[in-house]
Amino acid sequence: MLNIKKVDIIVPCYNEEDVLELFYNETQKVLNTIDGYDFRFIFVDDGSKDQTLSIMKALASKSDNVKYLSFSRNFGKESAMYAGLKFSSGDLVAILDADLQHPPSMIPTMLNELENGYDSCAARRISRTGESRVRSVFSRLFYKLNNKLSDVELVSGAVDFRIMTRQVVDAVLGLCEVQRFSKGIFSWIGFETKWLPYENIERPVGVTKWSFNSLVKYAIHGITAFSTAPLRLVTGMGFLISAFAFVYIIITLIKTFITGIDVPGYVTTLSAVLFMGGIVVISIGILGEYIGHIFMESKNRPIYILKQTNLNPQNFRGTDNEQTERKNIQ
Ligand code: UDP
Ligand code: MG
Repeated sequence: MLNIKKVDIIVPCYNEEDVLELFYNETQKVLNTIDGYDFRFIFVDDGSKDQTLSIMKALASKSDNVKYLSFSRNFGKESAMYAGLKFSSGDLVAILDADLQHPPSMIPTMLNELENGYDSCAARRISRTGESRVRSVFSRLFYKLNNKLSDVELVSGAVDFRIMTRQVVDAVLGLCEVQRFSKGIFSWIGFETKWLPYENIERPVGVTKWSFNSLVKYAIHGITAFSTAPLRLVTGMGFLISAFAFVYIIITLIKTFITGIDVPGYVTTLSAVLFMGGIVVISIGILGEYIGHIFMESKNRPIYILKQTNLNPQNFRGTDNEQTERKNIQ
Protein backbone atom coordinates (compact mmCIF):
# COMPACT_ATOMS: atom_id res chain seq x y z
CA MET A 1 0.00 0.00 0.00
CA LEU A 2 1.28 3.37 -0.93
CA ASN A 3 1.32 6.48 1.17
CA ILE A 4 -0.04 5.18 4.44
CA LYS A 5 -0.02 8.06 6.88
CA LYS A 6 1.15 7.50 10.41
CA VAL A 7 -1.10 8.96 13.10
CA ASP A 8 -0.01 9.34 16.72
CA ILE A 9 -2.82 9.59 19.24
CA ILE A 10 -1.73 11.38 22.39
CA VAL A 11 -3.76 10.73 25.52
CA PRO A 12 -2.90 12.62 28.73
CA CYS A 13 -3.95 10.54 31.74
CA TYR A 14 -4.08 11.35 35.42
CA ASN A 15 -5.70 8.75 37.67
CA GLU A 16 -7.76 7.24 34.88
CA GLU A 17 -7.67 3.57 35.94
CA ASP A 18 -11.47 3.33 35.78
CA VAL A 19 -11.81 4.39 32.20
CA LEU A 20 -8.51 3.78 30.40
CA GLU A 21 -9.23 0.28 29.11
CA LEU A 22 -12.72 1.30 28.02
CA PHE A 23 -11.22 4.30 26.26
CA TYR A 24 -8.70 2.12 24.44
CA ASN A 25 -11.33 -0.40 23.33
CA GLU A 26 -13.79 2.25 22.19
CA THR A 27 -11.15 4.21 20.30
CA GLN A 28 -9.66 1.08 18.75
CA LYS A 29 -13.15 0.12 17.51
CA VAL A 30 -13.37 3.44 15.66
CA LEU A 31 -9.82 3.17 14.31
CA ASN A 32 -10.53 -0.32 12.94
CA THR A 33 -13.09 1.21 10.59
CA ILE A 34 -10.57 3.66 9.07
CA ASP A 35 -8.40 2.58 6.15
CA GLY A 36 -5.21 4.13 4.90
CA TYR A 37 -3.73 5.19 8.23
CA ASP A 38 -1.36 3.57 10.65
CA PHE A 39 -2.41 4.49 14.21
CA ARG A 40 -0.29 4.48 17.34
CA PHE A 41 -1.31 5.46 20.88
CA ILE A 42 1.01 7.52 23.05
CA PHE A 43 -0.45 7.42 26.57
CA VAL A 44 1.07 9.96 28.92
CA ASP A 45 0.83 9.02 32.59
CA ASP A 46 0.93 12.35 34.37
CA GLY A 47 2.14 11.02 37.72
CA SER A 48 -1.02 9.01 38.45
CA LYS A 49 -1.33 7.59 41.93
CA ASP A 50 -3.57 4.70 40.89
CA GLN A 51 -3.12 1.78 38.49
CA THR A 52 -3.13 3.94 35.33
CA LEU A 53 0.48 3.11 34.45
CA SER A 54 0.01 -0.63 35.01
CA ILE A 55 -2.98 -0.56 32.67
CA MET A 56 -0.89 1.25 30.06
CA LYS A 57 1.83 -1.36 30.41
CA ALA A 58 -0.70 -4.18 30.10
CA LEU A 59 -2.11 -2.60 26.92
CA ALA A 60 1.43 -2.12 25.57
CA SER A 61 2.30 -5.76 26.20
CA LYS A 62 -0.74 -6.83 24.16
CA SER A 63 -0.33 -4.43 21.30
CA ASP A 64 2.63 -2.98 19.45
CA ASN A 65 0.77 0.21 18.70
CA VAL A 66 0.59 1.26 22.36
CA LYS A 67 3.37 3.46 23.73
CA TYR A 68 3.50 5.18 27.06
CA LEU A 69 5.40 7.94 28.81
CA SER A 70 5.30 8.20 32.57
CA PHE A 71 6.23 11.30 34.59
CA SER A 72 8.02 11.40 37.92
CA ARG A 73 5.06 13.31 39.41
CA ASN A 74 1.91 15.16 38.36
CA PHE A 75 2.95 18.00 36.06
CA GLY A 76 -0.50 18.91 34.71
CA LYS A 77 -2.32 18.21 31.46
CA GLU A 78 -0.44 20.92 29.56
CA SER A 79 2.89 19.22 30.32
CA ALA A 80 1.44 15.82 29.41
CA MET A 81 0.25 17.09 26.02
CA TYR A 82 3.61 18.74 25.38
CA ALA A 83 5.53 15.54 26.20
CA GLY A 84 3.26 13.55 23.89
CA LEU A 85 3.81 15.99 21.05
CA LYS A 86 7.52 15.96 21.62
CA PHE A 87 7.74 12.18 21.36
CA SER A 88 5.33 11.93 18.46
CA SER A 89 6.71 11.20 15.03
CA GLY A 90 3.54 10.61 12.99
CA ASP A 91 2.60 12.56 9.87
CA LEU A 92 -0.54 13.50 11.76
CA VAL A 93 -1.01 13.84 15.49
CA ALA A 94 -4.23 13.66 17.49
CA ILE A 95 -4.80 14.69 21.10
CA LEU A 96 -7.78 13.56 23.12
CA ASP A 97 -8.83 13.03 26.74
CA ALA A 98 -8.85 9.60 28.30
CA ASP A 99 -12.30 10.01 29.85
CA LEU A 100 -14.29 9.55 26.59
CA GLN A 101 -15.61 13.12 26.82
CA HIS A 102 -13.93 13.66 23.48
CA PRO A 103 -15.86 11.27 21.24
CA PRO A 104 -13.44 9.06 19.27
CA SER A 105 -16.22 8.70 16.68
CA MET A 106 -15.22 12.17 15.44
CA ILE A 107 -11.76 10.98 14.40
CA PRO A 108 -12.76 9.85 10.86
CA THR A 109 -14.41 13.22 10.10
CA MET A 110 -11.40 15.04 11.49
CA LEU A 111 -9.04 13.03 9.29
CA ASN A 112 -11.25 13.82 6.31
CA GLU A 113 -10.98 17.55 7.00
CA LEU A 114 -7.21 17.25 7.02
CA GLU A 115 -7.38 15.40 3.68
CA ASN A 116 -9.44 18.36 2.43
CA GLY A 117 -6.51 20.62 3.09
CA TYR A 118 -6.99 21.91 6.63
CA ASP A 119 -3.86 22.03 8.80
CA SER A 120 -5.76 21.02 11.87
CA CYS A 121 -9.24 20.02 12.88
CA ALA A 122 -10.49 20.60 16.40
CA ALA A 123 -13.64 20.01 18.40
CA ARG A 124 -15.84 22.71 19.88
CA ARG A 125 -18.38 22.01 22.59
CA ILE A 126 -21.73 23.57 21.79
CA SER A 127 -23.52 22.52 24.97
CA ARG A 128 -22.47 22.29 28.57
CA THR A 129 -24.84 19.65 29.90
CA GLY A 130 -23.71 18.11 33.14
CA GLU A 131 -21.64 21.15 34.05
CA SER A 132 -22.53 23.36 36.98
CA ARG A 133 -24.29 26.68 36.24
CA VAL A 134 -21.59 28.72 37.98
CA ARG A 135 -18.88 27.01 35.97
CA SER A 136 -20.60 27.69 32.62
CA VAL A 137 -21.23 31.35 33.51
CA PHE A 138 -17.59 31.87 34.50
CA SER A 139 -16.41 30.01 31.47
CA ARG A 140 -18.43 32.26 29.14
CA LEU A 141 -17.17 35.30 31.01
CA PHE A 142 -13.59 34.11 30.58
CA TYR A 143 -13.94 33.77 26.79
CA LYS A 144 -15.51 37.23 26.50
CA LEU A 145 -12.84 38.85 28.69
CA ASN A 146 -10.01 37.00 26.99
CA ASN A 147 -11.12 37.94 23.50
CA LYS A 148 -11.41 41.58 24.55
CA LEU A 149 -8.05 41.75 26.29
CA SER A 150 -5.87 39.19 24.62
CA ASP A 151 -4.04 39.26 21.31
CA VAL A 152 -5.09 35.69 20.60
CA GLU A 153 -8.70 34.92 19.78
CA LEU A 154 -10.11 31.90 21.60
CA VAL A 155 -13.01 29.99 20.11
CA SER A 156 -15.79 29.60 22.67
CA GLY A 157 -16.19 26.01 23.78
CA ALA A 158 -12.90 24.93 22.20
CA VAL A 159 -11.51 21.81 23.83
CA ASP A 160 -8.13 20.11 23.60
CA PHE A 161 -9.38 17.53 21.10
CA ARG A 162 -7.76 17.94 17.73
CA ILE A 163 -5.84 16.34 14.91
CA MET A 164 -3.04 18.27 13.25
CA THR A 165 -0.33 17.96 10.66
CA ARG A 166 3.33 17.53 11.51
CA GLN A 167 3.91 21.14 10.47
CA VAL A 168 1.46 22.35 13.14
CA VAL A 169 3.01 20.07 15.79
CA ASP A 170 6.47 21.47 15.04
CA ALA A 171 5.10 25.00 15.31
CA VAL A 172 3.55 24.20 18.71
CA LEU A 173 6.82 22.67 19.91
CA GLY A 174 8.59 25.83 18.75
CA LEU A 175 6.87 27.69 21.57
CA CYS A 176 8.83 26.31 24.48
CA GLU A 177 7.42 28.34 27.37
CA VAL A 178 7.35 26.36 30.60
CA GLN A 179 3.94 27.64 31.74
CA ARG A 180 1.86 26.51 28.83
CA PHE A 181 -1.62 27.49 27.72
CA SER A 182 -2.44 25.29 24.75
CA LYS A 183 -5.66 27.03 23.72
CA GLY A 184 -3.66 30.25 23.28
CA ILE A 185 -0.71 28.50 21.65
CA PHE A 186 -2.90 26.83 19.02
CA SER A 187 -4.49 30.16 18.19
CA TRP A 188 -1.19 32.07 18.20
CA ILE A 189 0.57 29.79 15.70
CA GLY A 190 -2.09 30.39 13.05
CA PHE A 191 -2.76 27.79 10.31
CA GLU A 192 -6.18 26.80 8.99
CA THR A 193 -8.29 25.11 11.64
CA LYS A 194 -11.63 23.46 10.97
CA TRP A 195 -13.91 23.54 14.03
CA LEU A 196 -16.31 20.66 14.49
CA PRO A 197 -19.18 21.24 16.93
CA TYR A 198 -20.26 18.47 19.29
CA GLU A 199 -22.60 18.03 22.25
CA ASN A 200 -20.93 17.78 25.62
CA ILE A 201 -20.72 14.26 27.01
CA GLU A 202 -20.62 13.56 30.71
CA ARG A 203 -17.73 11.54 32.07
CA PRO A 204 -18.77 7.84 32.12
CA VAL A 205 -16.66 7.16 35.25
CA GLY A 206 -14.21 9.03 37.46
CA VAL A 207 -14.31 12.73 38.30
CA THR A 208 -12.96 15.87 36.71
CA LYS A 209 -9.46 16.87 37.89
CA TRP A 210 -10.39 20.55 37.77
CA SER A 211 -11.41 22.39 40.89
CA PHE A 212 -12.98 25.84 40.67
CA ASN A 213 -9.74 27.35 42.03
CA SER A 214 -7.59 25.68 39.43
CA LEU A 215 -9.93 26.94 36.70
CA VAL A 216 -9.65 30.53 37.96
CA LYS A 217 -5.86 30.21 38.00
CA TYR A 218 -5.96 28.75 34.48
CA ALA A 219 -8.11 31.66 33.26
CA ILE A 220 -5.80 34.33 34.73
CA HIS A 221 -2.82 32.50 33.30
CA GLY A 222 -4.51 32.29 29.90
CA ILE A 223 -5.04 36.02 29.70
CA THR A 224 -1.67 37.11 31.09
CA ALA A 225 0.32 34.59 29.04
CA PHE A 226 -0.77 36.07 25.73
CA SER A 227 -1.46 39.70 26.39
CA THR A 228 -0.03 42.75 28.08
CA ALA A 229 -3.40 44.51 27.87
CA PRO A 230 -3.96 44.29 31.67
CA LEU A 231 -0.70 46.23 32.16
CA ARG A 232 -1.88 48.92 29.74
CA LEU A 233 -5.17 48.95 31.62
CA VAL A 234 -3.27 49.82 34.82
CA THR A 235 -1.49 52.66 33.05
CA GLY A 236 -4.79 53.87 31.60
CA MET A 237 -6.41 53.77 35.02
CA GLY A 238 -3.51 55.80 36.43
CA PHE A 239 -3.95 58.49 33.77
CA LEU A 240 -7.71 58.60 34.21
CA ILE A 241 -7.52 58.94 37.99
CA SER A 242 -4.77 61.59 37.74
CA ALA A 243 -6.88 63.60 35.28
CA PHE A 244 -9.89 63.33 37.58
CA ALA A 245 -7.80 64.39 40.59
CA PHE A 246 -6.37 67.35 38.66
CA VAL A 247 -9.84 68.64 37.74
CA TYR A 248 -11.02 68.10 41.33
CA ILE A 249 -8.04 70.07 42.73
CA ILE A 250 -8.67 73.01 40.35
CA ILE A 251 -12.38 73.09 41.27
CA THR A 252 -11.54 72.97 45.01
CA LEU A 253 -8.95 75.76 44.62
CA ILE A 254 -11.38 78.00 42.77
CA LYS A 255 -14.07 77.31 45.37
CA THR A 256 -11.62 78.16 48.17
CA PHE A 257 -10.74 81.48 46.49
CA ILE A 258 -14.39 82.41 46.11
CA THR A 259 -15.96 81.16 49.32
CA GLY A 260 -12.92 80.87 51.63
CA ILE A 261 -11.57 77.70 53.29
CA ASP A 262 -14.05 74.89 53.16
CA VAL A 263 -14.34 72.30 55.95
CA PRO A 264 -12.89 69.15 54.41
CA GLY A 265 -15.40 66.34 54.04
CA TYR A 266 -14.64 63.21 56.06
CA VAL A 267 -16.54 60.91 53.69
CA THR A 268 -14.88 62.33 50.57
CA THR A 269 -11.40 61.87 52.03
CA LEU A 270 -12.07 58.35 53.26
CA SER A 271 -13.64 57.30 49.93
CA ALA A 272 -10.70 58.70 47.98
CA VAL A 273 -8.16 56.92 50.21
CA LEU A 274 -9.97 53.58 50.05
CA PHE A 275 -10.61 53.84 46.33
CA MET A 276 -6.97 54.67 45.60
CA GLY A 277 -5.81 51.95 47.97
CA GLY A 278 -7.90 49.41 46.06
CA ILE A 279 -6.62 50.56 42.69
CA VAL A 280 -2.99 50.46 43.86
CA VAL A 281 -3.32 46.95 45.27
CA ILE A 282 -5.06 45.66 42.13
CA SER A 283 -2.31 47.21 40.03
CA ILE A 284 0.39 45.57 42.12
CA GLY A 285 -1.48 42.28 41.77
CA ILE A 286 -1.56 42.60 37.98
CA LEU A 287 2.13 43.48 37.90
CA GLY A 288 2.75 40.52 40.21
CA GLU A 289 1.12 38.13 37.71
CA TYR A 290 3.60 39.19 35.06
CA ILE A 291 6.58 39.12 37.42
CA GLY A 292 5.47 35.61 38.40
CA HIS A 293 5.57 34.61 34.72
CA ILE A 294 9.04 36.10 34.30
CA PHE A 295 10.24 34.35 37.46
CA MET A 296 8.94 30.94 36.42
CA GLU A 297 10.15 31.23 32.84
CA SER A 298 13.58 32.55 33.81
CA LYS A 299 14.34 29.38 35.76
CA ASN A 300 13.98 27.46 32.52
CA ARG A 301 13.00 24.29 34.30
CA PRO A 302 11.96 21.25 32.29
CA ILE A 303 8.26 21.13 31.42
CA TYR A 304 8.08 17.55 32.68
CA ILE A 305 10.40 14.88 34.03
CA LEU A 306 10.13 11.49 32.47
CA LYS A 307 10.52 8.41 34.62
CA GLN A 308 9.63 5.53 32.32
CA THR A 309 8.74 4.95 28.71
CA ASN A 310 8.63 2.16 26.14
CA LEU A 311 9.42 4.66 23.39
CA ASN A 312 12.95 5.08 22.18
CA PRO A 313 14.12 8.25 23.98
CA GLN A 314 16.46 8.99 21.07
CA ASN A 315 13.42 9.55 18.87
CA PHE A 316 12.04 12.55 20.58
CA ARG A 317 11.93 15.88 18.84
CA GLY A 318 12.80 19.31 20.07
CA THR A 319 15.75 20.84 21.78
CA ASP A 320 15.00 22.27 25.20
CA ASN A 321 16.23 20.36 28.21
CA GLU A 322 17.09 17.52 25.87
CA GLN A 323 20.01 16.27 27.88
CA THR A 324 18.13 16.26 31.18
CA GLU A 325 15.31 14.25 29.72
CA ARG A 326 17.59 11.69 28.13
CA LYS A 327 19.54 11.26 31.32
CA ASN A 328 16.37 10.78 33.31
CA ILE A 329 15.15 7.83 31.34
CA GLN A 330 18.43 5.96 31.14
N1 UDP B 1 -5.21 15.24 33.08
C1 UDP B 1 -3.83 15.16 33.13
N2 UDP B 1 -3.17 15.78 34.17
C2 UDP B 1 -3.83 16.48 35.12
C3 UDP B 1 -5.24 16.59 35.02
C4 UDP B 1 -5.89 15.96 33.98
O1 UDP B 1 -3.21 14.53 32.29
O2 UDP B 1 -3.18 17.02 36.01
C5 UDP B 1 -5.93 14.55 31.98
C6 UDP B 1 -7.08 13.66 32.41
O3 UDP B 1 -6.63 12.36 32.73
C7 UDP B 1 -7.99 13.66 31.21
C8 UDP B 1 -7.78 15.08 30.64
O4 UDP B 1 -6.55 15.54 31.17
O5 UDP B 1 -7.60 12.72 30.23
C9 UDP B 1 -8.92 16.02 31.02
O6 UDP B 1 -9.09 16.05 32.42
P1 UDP B 1 -10.50 16.18 33.11
O7 UDP B 1 -11.46 15.20 32.51
O8 UDP B 1 -10.26 16.10 34.58
O9 UDP B 1 -10.90 17.66 32.71
P2 UDP B 1 -12.31 18.20 32.15
O10 UDP B 1 -12.78 17.24 31.10
O11 UDP B 1 -13.20 18.23 33.33
O12 UDP B 1 -11.99 19.55 31.60
MG1 MG C 1 -12.97 15.33 31.22
